[in-house]
Amino acid sequence: MSAGKIVGYVISGILIFFGVLFLLSAFAPDTGVNPVERLVVGVILIGIGLAIIVIIKMREPKPEQKVVVEQKIDFSGDIELEKLQCKNCGAELDKKSITLAQGAVVVSCPYCGTSYQMVEEPKW
Ligand SMILES: [Zn+2]
Repeated sequence: MSAGKIVGYVISGILIFFGVLFLLSAFAPDTGVNPVERLVVGVILIGIGLAIIVIIKMREPKPEQKVVVEQKIDFSGDIELEKLQCKNCGAELDKKSITLAQGAVVVSCPYCGTSYQMVEEPKW
């Protein structure tokens, strides 16, 4: 919490405190002071105090949203995963059936059980 914030909270706290005092004194036995005036002053003080708190809250930076880092297998080449099919049975393969073993991309087909090393087609 920054010093500015603390000062803001203290000031707003004092304002609200005195505002409540004014409100209470408005209902106190006759002191010769116009109670309506005190009510108005009390409400204004509390209002300012609350406004300061609201301003402080609004200026607070929102907590950073956690960036979801999608885990991807780091292919050295550009492989189109969408069109990936099993060499053996032609079944569509997803990312789960692809693993990296000793720097080579190995495809394990969950349908026919074949596993083979993928040959990356260079693109240029
Ligand atoms: Zn297969």
